[in-house]
Amino acid sequence: MKKILIANRGEIALRIIKTCKNMGIETVAVYSDADKEMPFVTEADFAFRIGEPPVNKSYLNTELILDIAKREQVDGIHPGYGFLSENASFARKVKEEGIQFIGPSPETIELMGDKIVSRTTMQKAGVPVVPGSEAGVTTLEEACQLASTIGYPVMLKASGGGGGIGMVRCENEQALVKSYDSTKSRAKAYFGSDEVFVEKYIDNARHVEVQVFGDNFGNIVHLYERDCSVQRRNQKVIEETPTPFLSNEAKEKMYEVAKQAAKAVSYKNAGTIEFIVDEDENFYFLEMNTRLQVEHPITEMITGLDLVKWQILVAREEKLPLMQEEIGQNGFSMEFRLYAEDPVTFLPSPGKIDTFVWNEDSPVRMDIGYIGGSTVSPFYDPMISKCIFFGNTRMEVIQSALRFFEELTITGIKTNAPLFKEILQEEDFLNGNYTTAYLAEKKLVKK
Ligand code: ADP
Ligand code: ADP
Ligand code: MG
Repeated sequence: MKKILIANRGEIALRIIKTCKNMGIETVAVYSDADKEMPFVTEADFAFRIGEPPVNKSYLNTELILDIAKREQVDGIHPGYGFLSENASFARKVKEEGIQFIGPSPETIELMGDKIVSRTTMQKAGVPVVPGSEAGVTTLEEACQLASTIGYPVMLKASGGGGGIGMVRCENEQALVKSYDSTKSRAKAYFGSDEVFVEKYIDNARHVEVQVFGDNFGNIVHLYERDCSVQRRNQKVIEETPTPFLSNEAKEKMYEVAKQAAKAVSYKNAGTIEFIVDEDENFYFLEMNTRLQVEHPITEMITGLDLVKWQILVAREEKLPLMQEEIGQNGFSMEFRLYAEDPVTFLPSPGKIDTFVWNEDSPVRMDIGYIGGSTVSPFYDPMISKCIFFGNTRMEVIQSALRFFEELTITGIKTNAPLFKEILQEEDFLNGNYTTAYLAEKKLVKK
């Protein structure tokens, strides 16, 4: 592979460019009018405008992106995360053009993209899934009947959902009745399908996921876990590895189940098996993300591996560079998603960043999307940067992170840095004692 097109923007586009440069691969960026001054555009070897800012007119314009890929004679397309990364028909078209789609096969993307289908596939493979519907529910009566069999509280979820959107916790039947129609129409509006299903709501849960990798020769390895329980509205805010919660025994079991899940679909390239874990360390399959994950850097920090490089090697039909026994784990890592948002209302705070400076001596890895002087566009996810820390102990990581956020200067827009400073001094977080309800319970998200 000598030339790769990156069908994405912001920090992840820049992150992919870095690895390509290290591997001597040329990069082609595509950008909307809102992004022409962005770092990923200036850093790429070639860059082409693909349209107006709205995603339907630019980053989701598969035809134009494919035309550019063909014209530029690229060998591969990296979709990043979000956008076209889990779009099976795009992956198929890329393949038909004789270009490598840097990700799993279109069939796997399709299979795992539907939450119900992936649940049943995993159940058949002997992977524990959250108790719930075997198929989509078609009527409210059916939903209520299922819910009373499962037992409240339940989660009403869109089969095609993602990004924490399209799911609602229902405490009792009354709540389910109230949420049913609105969840269906929201699912239709966001994901193009109004199919919903019901599953048991796991209380006091943790979100722990396992990074997996597969190649074209049947090899499947895991790259340990990530704890993503610090969430706001089912969206990840802080991730860390190793998880401060699970026993070693439970972790080993989880790695094996994750590999079993990946084997069941002959998985190729990078993937993540997400589990929801109850108070007694029982864990259940939630979904599989068939792409590079936002929080992949913390895995890179503790394994010393470059996951984007591995993705490219697998797409080049090479064997995984390491076998399971050769993949070690060292130290602790945390990632903080720095957002342009109002710390009080949590509404996006787009606009021009005047200054963006941090202490150069901080041991931080900044996966930046924006720099001082650039403008956070209202058209896209307002993540400015991922701030990633590594240390020999969990406390060392926390101290570096706290100091970093105290010394961070970012002006022109509002950010969630004040929230991070609070969390980094909060007792339960310091003790690793948190669930997915942590931010809401501590009222850290309402201030
Ligand atoms: P991660 O664990 O990588 O954060 P998420 O499920 O939160 O996984 O999604 C990552 C990114 O992709 C986020 O920017 C999210 O908004 C976006 N995303 C995920 N699924 C969808 C979807 N179905 N439609 C639109 N955006 C999505
Ligand atoms: P998405 O595709 O939007 O990422 P997930 O199924 O991965 O959807 O769920 C996102 C988050 O929602 C989880 O990390 C968890 O916090 C919460 N969640 C999802 N399902 C359940 C459940 N059955 N019980 C409790 N929490 C859940
Ligand atoms: Mg998820």
